[in-house]
Amino acid sequence: MLSSLTYLHILLVEDNLPDIIIIKKQFQKLQTLQVDLTHVSTCREAIINLQNTTFDVILLDLSLPDSQNLDTVKTIYAHSNDIPILILTGLDDEEIAITSVREGAQDYLVKGEINLDNLQRAIRYAIERKQKLKEINILNQKLSVSNRELENYAYIVSHDLKQPLQTILASSQLILYLDKDNLGEKSFQLLQFISDSSNTMNQLIDTLLSYAKIDHDHEEKDILDCVEVIKNVLGLLKQQIQEAQAVISIEIEDNQHPVTVFYNQTQLTQLFQNLISNAIKYIPDNCQPKISISVKEEKGEWLFSIKDNGIGIKSEDHQRIFKILERINTDKQYDGIGIGLATCKKIIENNGGKIWVESCLNQGSTFYFTIPITRCIENENDYSNSI
Ligand code: ADP
Repeated sequence: MLSSLTYLHILLVEDNLPDIIIIKKQFQKLQTLQVDLTHVSTCREAIINLQNTTFDVILLDLSLPDSQNLDTVKTIYAHSNDIPILILTGLDDEEIAITSVREGAQDYLVKGEINLDNLQRAIRYAIERKQKLKEINILNQKLSVSNRELENYAYIVSHDLKQPLQTILASSQLILYLDKDNLGEKSFQLLQFISDSSNTMNQLIDTLLSYAKIDHDHEEKDILDCVEVIKNVLGLLKQQIQEAQAVISIEIEDNQHPVTVFYNQTQLTQLFQNLISNAIKYIPDNCQPKISISVKEEKGEWLFSIKDNGIGIKSEDHQRIFKILERINTDKQYDGIGIGLATCKKIIENNGGKIWVESCLNQGSTFYFTIPITRCIENENDYSNSI
């Protein structure tokens, strides 16, 4: 990039005269490049210049008469209009220089070690890195716009499909009910087929709608006790649990009561329901499901695990199963549409958590997920998010 440039406009923010002389001397050695150096000694002057002029790069000393260290980086970064910043630092300031890079600077140069080579290289990398960063940001913005459009589109399409489908479903069921005796055997079977298929499609649309809705209703959140939510889910799954004779245990490590989170109730219920229901469902024939749900505090988050003794998942499928409409076990024995885990992933990630699975084929699976901890202080309305 620098090699293709013939002219560079540089803002040098430095108050130490010997350092200014050294840098100016280095630039004078440049033959192929014309450098226009604007020099200021304070943060205030730098801001005024940044408001009025466009530069290719900013060379920034951190100790200025009106600003020090990280404050200098933060202030200049806020006014930089995406111009790359190169920190000039003393030998003993390297720690601050590294933190400055985290705060938005592109790189740093240690004063006393500056020569034409490393100065040129640092400027070139700073400009290139900033350019790439800009391109990535633009791409990310485009991606999130198109993702949002796609989700809205899916929501609208599913919503509009429901109406005609319900007419088909209701009409076919009405004919089956009212005209049963007048229908020939073949017509009866075909109508039954229409009714069953419309029913399945209706359920599929409902599931897709609720998947698309996750982004729309995550705003309505409450402080919830996860153990209460799990107990409620076990009630909702009562029939499935009884039929499979599943044994389910809940373990809270280190007696960390209550396990409170700030979450949308429907989504937290959906999350546990999908994972527990899968743990009961994906079990070999004639095997009693034994499921243990546990939670512990780890690195400022709740770490949940749901362990089963089921059919397990091959390691190459561990990522795939979290994608929408991806199913691994398509045998009749395990019915489903492949949206449950994608829903869990979306809910968890929208709430600042992660989800993953550890499993081997035929050796059961453990699904892990994290939720930021929210602690109740005195009453239900006082809470603090520990993250
Ligand atoms: P569905 O259950 O409707 O197929 P999911 O998104 O919940 O959809 O799961 C995706 C796939 O992940 C399933 O088809 C199954 O192959 C696999 N899977 C999910 N949970 C388990 C589990 N506890 N044990 C084994 N496989 C599982």
